[in-house]
Amino acid sequence: MTTTYGHELRHDAGLLRSALRDARPTSFWLDDPDRPAPRARLEGDAHADLVVVGGGYAGLWTALLAKERTPARRVVLLEGRRIGWAASGRNGGFVEASLTHGPENGELHFRDELPVLDALAEQNFAGFVEAIERYGIDAELEIEPTLTVATEPYQVDAMREDADPVLEGEELARYGRSPLFRAGILSAHGNAFVHPAKLAWGLAAAAERLGVEIHENTPALSMTRATAGRAITTPNGTIRAAQVALATNGFPSLLKRLRLFTVPIYDYVLMTEPLTAAQLEAIGWTGRHGITDSGREFHYYRKTRDDRILFGGYDAVYHRGRRIRDAQDQRDETFERLADHLYQTFPSLTGVGFSHKWGGMIDMSTRLVAFHGATADRRVAYSAGFTGLGVAATRFGAQTMLDFLDGADTDRTRLTVSRRLPVPIPPEPIAYPLIQTMRRAVARSDANGGKDGPLLRLAGLFGVGFDS
Ligand SMILES: Cc1cc2nc3c(=O)[nH]c(=O)nc-3n(C[C@H](O)[C@H](O)[C@H](O)COP(=O)(O)OP(=O)(O)OC[C@H]3O[C@@H](n4cnc5c(N)ncnc54)[C@H](O)[C@@H]3O)c2cc1C
Repeated sequence: MTTTYGHELRHDAGLLRSALRDARPTSFWLDDPDRPAPRARLEGDAHADLVVVGGGYAGLWTALLAKERTPARRVVLLEGRRIGWAASGRNGGFVEASLTHGPENGELHFRDELPVLDALAEQNFAGFVEAIERYGIDAELEIEPTLTVATEPYQVDAMREDADPVLEGEELARYGRSPLFRAGILSAHGNAFVHPAKLAWGLAAAAERLGVEIHENTPALSMTRATAGRAITTPNGTIRAAQVALATNGFPSLLKRLRLFTVPIYDYVLMTEPLTAAQLEAIGWTGRHGITDSGREFHYYRKTRDDRILFGGYDAVYHRGRRIRDAQDQRDETFERLADHLYQTFPSLTGVGFSHKWGGMIDMSTRLVAFHGATADRRVAYSAGFTGLGVAATRFGAQTMLDFLDGADTDRTRLTVSRRLPVPIPPEPIAYPLIQTMRRAVARSDANGGKDGPLLRLAGLFGVGFDS
């Protein structure tokens, strides 16, 4: 059985290369004249009540919410490079309320907790939107739905079983006209879009207005015990703090025992040049909604404020040895495949050029959602493993870390994600062949009418998911 989208190219490689020729090898979102100048490094020794390590969404929300909860607490945030340079400045900007990485994964791992998880997801999404408005953050927030499309007959059947109404024919064409779209469902509840980097920059500015001290280009090199807390060493000074929040995504954790619970997986994105009204009319995409397809290897696409199309996903690449390197942000093979898939989806756009091409690291964990916790008598909290769905969920991770640090027993700290770590992913030499085998099993599942083979079924029994 073959799939609509495949790994082999259906367009001439010369055409694809020429469309990609002028694409800048950097995130469109970060390539912006409004990018703030870097803040000063930490120089010399310092003290704080709370040190937050990591200046992506998880760290920024933690710092901001810590000051909201206790304004007098001295909060210092250390970012190894620049605010939002990593996943938080490179993602698709799909804001989804779900804390379970979708309903199916929720059923698999957290069936008994679904009502409380759904309520917390709703609260978190509302708090996310409310904070952006209250702090006047220009994150280009748009509360708009996402259209999930079926491109294979078996996906249509699954949609008809699960959802009502299922859009087909002319109703579907109002949201997107593609020879590959067979049916679709529109998710409007708990769904929005942001400019990812502007969200990170806006959160940093809001946190500073509340008194958070931010140091960029200040990697935390190690964390050791110190009188009444922890000492964090940086290249030019040591900071002592009563409490530490680790918001370092899939980068090696300062708590070494957590390192096997995430693996860095690279996801890739293309941005087209701005499209004309006539081009968008021709593909039936005149609304502001986003689109995703329903394979296990799936694409996500959305529009920018100036009517470009961001088109990403499908490939998810692991580099041997949990390697994280800037060079891995570029992958010509994947960019050509994505261009090919965009043109297959919307043939009238064939040949449209791309302005940006980039990749970024996702912190995959085996439950496909983040785990949260604390150690050292609740002096050190952590939250990681968002697996490609962290724009909204990182705010929830921040609240949970603060609950732990504040000594509070809440609905959040009582969840499985806060009490039990996921199944770890073994170190090399096992990790690489294991992940490649799982990826092939995922591709086979897509090619086999969505049916999981024995390997994925076995993994499911152990509570291990594999998806992008
Ligand atoms: C290409 C791509 C597309 C995505 N699309 C979506 C999407 O559409 N919707 C969605 O919900 N999610 C999406 N995601 C996932 C989402 O971007 C992440 O889940 C989220 O940004 C994670 O935020 P974070 O703060 O945990 O991590 P990051 O943004 O990675 O921030 C972690 C920070 O910690 C810093 N750091 C690490 N170690 C140290 C140290 N020792 N000292 C100091 N600093 C340190 C790093 O420099 C980094 O800045 C996507 C991710 C990628 C890569």
